[in-house]
Amino acid sequence: MALTVNLRHLEAHNIRLSGEMPVSELDLDTRDELIQARRPLEYDLEAQKLEEGLLVQGKLRLVLDCECVRCLKPVEYVLELAPWTCLLPLQGEERVAVVNDVVDLTPTIREDILLEFPQHPLCDPECSGLPNLSVGKAKKNSGAGKTEAGTSAWAELNKLKFNN
Ligand SMILES: [Zn+2]
Repeated sequence: MALTVNLRHLEAHNIRLSGEMPVSELDLDTRDELIQARRPLEYDLEAQKLEEGLLVQGKLRLVLDCECVRCLKPVEYVLELAPWTCLLPLQGEERVAVVNDVVDLTPTIREDILLEFPQHPLCDPECSGLPNLSVGKAKKNSGAGKTEAGTSAWAELNKLKFNN
């Protein structure tokens, strides 16, 4: 279920591609435990065949489940590429692979999505982190311990707020 375009169909008219793709298809290697890609990639694209290549334009949207690097609070990051445009050459050395008239857009999309990944997700630009808990320590704890540490620290933070 990769995102593909059939060039033969494009001879007659442009093709509209719209829908959702399971994010597993993108095979994103986030290399960051604070950023999880679990939700489907939404796309709304139009493909057009030009003389020198395949032009695809439209929108890509992927919601990432992140943790704030400072306080570990869960935070949604909406990664949106709008407008997104790519021109895939069909001739020359840089030409894309065409298998049975079909071009796979997935590798190009994967690359562009990864380029837009947040480097340091924050719940708020002003986030001051956790009181009495260094993020470095919390990250070293494994699995459930990490979540618990985060939760209790938040409880502490809430208490502080109420006391003010
Ligand atoms: Zn935060």
